[in-house]
Amino acid sequence: MTKFTRRFFLGSAPAAAAACTLGFGFSSAAEAAVKWDDTFNIVVIGAGGAGLSAAISAKEAGAKKVVVLEKMMFAGGNTIRAGGGFNAAIKADYEKAGITDSPQLHAEQTLAAGDGRGDPELVHQLTEKAPESVQWLKDHGVKFQDHIYQIYGGLYKRARNPLGPRGGAYIKALLEVCKKEDIPIWYNSRVIEIIREKPLSGRVLGVKIEQKGGKTLNIRATNAIVVAAGGFAANDRLTAISDPRMAKLGTTNHPGATGDLLTDMIDIGAGTRGLDYIQCIPGGVPGEKHAPNLFTHVDRFVFVNLNGKRFIKEDARRDVLRDAMLDQPKAIAWTIVDAVGFEQQKNSKGPENEAALKAGTLYFADTIEDLAKKTGLPVEALKESIDTYNKAVDTKKDPLGRAETVLVNKIIKAPFYAGRVTMKRHHTMGGVIINKNAQVIDRRGEVIPGLYAAGEVTGGIHGTNRVGGNAMADIFTYGRIAGENAAKNPA
Ligand SMILES: Cc1cc2nc3c(=O)[nH]c(=O)nc-3n(C[C@H](O)[C@H](O)[C@H](O)COP(=O)(O)OP(=O)(O)OC[C@H]3O[C@@H](n4cnc5c(N)ncnc54)[C@H](O)[C@@H]3O)c2cc1C
Repeated sequence: MTKFTRRFFLGSAPAAAAACTLGFGFSSAAEAAVKWDDTFNIVVIGAGGAGLSAAISAKEAGAKKVVVLEKMMFAGGNTIRAGGGFNAAIKADYEKAGITDSPQLHAEQTLAAGDGRGDPELVHQLTEKAPESVQWLKDHGVKFQDHIYQIYGGLYKRARNPLGPRGGAYIKALLEVCKKEDIPIWYNSRVIEIIREKPLSGRVLGVKIEQKGGKTLNIRATNAIVVAAGGFAANDRLTAISDPRMAKLGTTNHPGATGDLLTDMIDIGAGTRGLDYIQCIPGGVPGEKHAPNLFTHVDRFVFVNLNGKRFIKEDARRDVLRDAMLDQPKAIAWTIVDAVGFEQQKNSKGPENEAALKAGTLYFADTIEDLAKKTGLPVEALKESIDTYNKAVDTKKDPLGRAETVLVNKIIKAPFYAGRVTMKRHHTMGGVIINKNAQVIDRRGEVIPGLYAAGEVTGGIHGTNRVGGNAMADIFTYGRIAGENAAKNPA
């Protein structure tokens, strides 16, 4: 196959003339200059939550030929790893749970938690449409649990989980829809370049992909490309550029979360925002294969440091929690729950904790004293921390300032469990700039024709700090919006 680089079709007059005289029906010299190996109306990049919902929405909005390109050998990205906690202010749900809520409150809290750096227009659209996204997922085969709870870093009781294998439940259902809708997913197909008419102007035409064995293909997208390639929390170099602390930390992400498409979009002129806001959450300590996870339900656990002392209100923002834990001795904390908390945790992290129990990384004992002995924590200090916390549940006054809404459950029912954690890179809040229609905006503030993006690859929703449970709302809402609008984009 003849190889053409982007430089080849820098709008040269001979190429334009060739395109016209050869009469290939190409709309531009640039398009004619590439040997296209296959053509689709919509090319979606990434088979995670945002990508699959974009592909399905594009097909449902009338696009005839849609393809999903995925660099890994399976679908799911970070979405399949997610606990699946999904924030949406759904009237029937919050009324049933006796909670005061609304999309407006959800938007206000999201903007405040991101220090006002989120784009209000995008955030309001997100919280208004998040309930529709839950309904859309139900209509496409996802079943949800009834329980509404405050997820770690969620700041409000607004999350729900799917029934089934958490984030995997969304992916499983959407893959079935893709099959029914005849949407092919090309695995082992890494996008290595976005092909635009000119490097920094004109329409986006298609992509170059590299398949297993190094074979490259050029894929034409007649109507639009939707980039849904996820974040870059698995990329040591990119995350450490603006926050050098990140270089030393591990990641909770799948190995493909490296930000390739972010770089490719920057190459063709995309504007970015918030790239220096890197979120961390607790994960296993280095060398521990099966890490326990006891911290999803904020009303059920406390953190203590290696001295057995609580050091932070557990319902704080994720960035505050990150900084507090990184400041503790060895940057390590123990998460403590009782038997009820452990049961509750099963609705999002059951299999992980079963594996941790088998691997011996999750400790349990019938008394706090014995738990301290097993974990090596100072007995008296741990007892005092748990006693003080239990008293705070009675008095509704926590010395560390935990809110009353999550100061409701004592840690009193044996057995007691403890899991050791440190901070890991988890989510990248920044990415390319999009508008309300999910069109990518360039460095000069202009729409890049034919280019849409959704999910963690975009910036501007979460500001400095993503609220726990808001990524699911984001990827399925903006995935749908991107897919629908891409389908309407004229060829
Ligand atoms: C362990 C964990 C738990 C989480 N739990 C929650 C939770 O409970 N609630 C919540 O709201 N958020 C949670 N999150 C965050 C959330 O999962 C992610 O932000 C979200 O899934 C991102 O979705 P996405 O579709 O944008 O990207 P992804 O799901 O990561 O999908 C992107 C896809 O693009 C592919 N790709 C990348 N580059 C290329 C390329 N060059 N060519 C082709 N394909 C490419 C990737 O391989 C991947 O499959 C969690 C994250 C993790 C890691």
